[in-house]
Amino acid sequence: MRLTVIGTGYLGAVHAACMADIGHEVLGVDTDTRKVEALGAGRAPFFEPGLPEILARNTRSGRLRFTTSLQEAADFADVHFVCVGTPQRPDSLAADLSHVDAVVDGLVPLLTRDSLIVGKSTVPVGTTRSLSRRVSAAARPGVGVQVAWNPEFLREGFAVQDTLRPDRLVVGATASHADQLLRSVYEPMLRAGVVYISTDPATAELVKVAANSFLATKISFINAMAEVCDASGADVVTLADALGHDARIGRRFLSAGLGFGGGCLPKDVRAFLARAEELQVGDAVSFLRQVDRINDRQRRRAVDFARHLLGGAFAGRRVAVLGATFKPDSDDVRDSPALAVTAEILAQGADVRVHDPEGIDNARAALPGPAYCTDVMEVCRDADVVLHLTEWRQYRALDPARLAETVRAPRLLDARNALDQAAWQAAGWHVRALGRPTSVPQPGQRAVHVTVSQALGAAGTAPAPGDPVSGVPR
Ligand code: NAD
Repeated sequence: MRLTVIGTGYLGAVHAACMADIGHEVLGVDTDTRKVEALGAGRAPFFEPGLPEILARNTRSGRLRFTTSLQEAADFADVHFVCVGTPQRPDSLAADLSHVDAVVDGLVPLLTRDSLIVGKSTVPVGTTRSLSRRVSAAARPGVGVQVAWNPEFLREGFAVQDTLRPDRLVVGATASHADQLLRSVYEPMLRAGVVYISTDPATAELVKVAANSFLATKISFINAMAEVCDASGADVVTLADALGHDARIGRRFLSAGLGFGGGCLPKDVRAFLARAEELQVGDAVSFLRQVDRINDRQRRRAVDFARHLLGGAFAGRRVAVLGATFKPDSDDVRDSPALAVTAEILAQGADVRVHDPEGIDNARAALPGPAYCTDVMEVCRDADVVLHLTEWRQYRALDPARLAETVRAPRLLDARNALDQAAWQAAGWHVRALGRPTSVPQPGQRAVHVTVSQALGAAGTAPAPGDPVSGVPR
């Protein structure tokens, strides 16, 4: 089949390449000329494992091309996937649908044959219905243009495999013709046994928003438990392991740490709150406000823990940051918890050096202040504290004994609860983590376990510089 994919960012570029890979002829469209040039030359404009290979393969075969021209798109195909961004509006919690509207307003008057517009972007429930009215008003007389919604569930870092073998395909369409067309598009997946859920547009839109809200809630739940652990001396990692053995709960998305970020979960939770208010069911999802607040609080708690490790102040201290992206295996720094923490400690006067395997260019563009470097040893040289903020695999492979010789003082905040804390402690590190009792090595003694509330004092404030409770020389 001939398809267009309009908006070729993290979602659209992968969708376009994968649709070509399963045999379709695909034209990708974007307003960003640099992106179009790179993609057209078979180069991925962002880091996504597996994407360079399928891009190169399919651009070489001629099945995959890219353009900035909506006219070319209108002439090329009758099925148009819309994959443009739906960020948070600057003035409210709601989603900004202006990019989706711009595509429809630009494309529909150019269509001369009956066509199907398939939304893949994440949108508030009710968008297909309002877009259908917009489309009808803009279509040429005698040209029938349908709108269907087919939300995308891919995960950055696994985007190619998630697109080629999704957990499920969800299609919301009012016309059975639209459903049939999409079954044809995804025929190789259906043949391989991928579940296909055919529903109305509102349900399809809501599936995506509800899925992201559930995942965000699970993360904030365990982060709330981490706060309780810090106040009571319990260990959130053991707690999560024990909870996870209950099949009804499950262990995935139950790791306490810096919380969620990226271009999806935070803005999708907020857009859902805004849309529910419009639908006058704000109370039904008001818990999502807490989910968002708990998530935000983890970033501030991480800053407090790091400052406490330093004895009470960042000014003039050297801080090594491991990780800038919002998650490993991606170069995406949109609403990255790691960068938010970095920005705050920079503002509090620290001399900050940041390492990330793939995200340095994006991080530097978003936050120019710190020194960025791709050499972990260089970043950690003479550091007063090391902050583990994004759980890249290579950080788990670090040798804590070797790193201890590089830093000025072996202090570690494992804000992702992903490192082998016992190994780091054995190598002489003073380790702090969110939701875990802290072990303070005392000269000539076994480690003493101190709860964070004990360490921070009853008011939960950081101790004065040099406070002996930190157990680490300044
Ligand atoms: P992105 O910012 O990486 O990509 C959006 C692209 O659309 C950009 O390349 C931009 O230049 C282009 N664009 C904007 N206006 C355009 C226009 N008028 N015509 C053509 N192109 C235009 O965003 P993304 O991460 O790919 O997300 C896109 C949508 O997919 C969002 O709604 C997001 O919530 C959803 N989504 C994203 C993911 C993910 O993991 N990134 C997963 C599932 C769903």
